[in-house]
Amino acid sequence: MIDTTDFYGRTNEKTKTSTNLVQLLDCPCGKTPTELNLIEGSTCKWAYVTGNCCGEWNVEFRTEYNKIDTDECMKLAIDEWNRAPRPLKGEN
Ligand SMILES: [Zn+2]
Repeated sequence: MIDTTDFYGRTNEKTKTSTNLVQLLDCPCGKTPTELNLIEGSTCKWAYVTGNCCGEWNVEFRTEYNKIDTDECMKLAIDEWNRAPRPLKGEN
């Protein structure tokens, strides 16, 4: 039998967007994105992540040279999305 377990430890029956596997934190716009979009940065080392809620707030993250459409890159984006400090509400 072929080992189809991928690096998330789940059975690799169907590879879905890896954002389905984790809880995303709220965007500063007040909504919780269900998906994240990755945007290539100026170099292959950096990219931006935005939520599908408003698409306005973005966080820069290191791709570690992973291609932008890979699960590994999405994982880094999710980490950064959840770790990034949110702007305080009511502050200009
Ligand atoms: Zn938003």
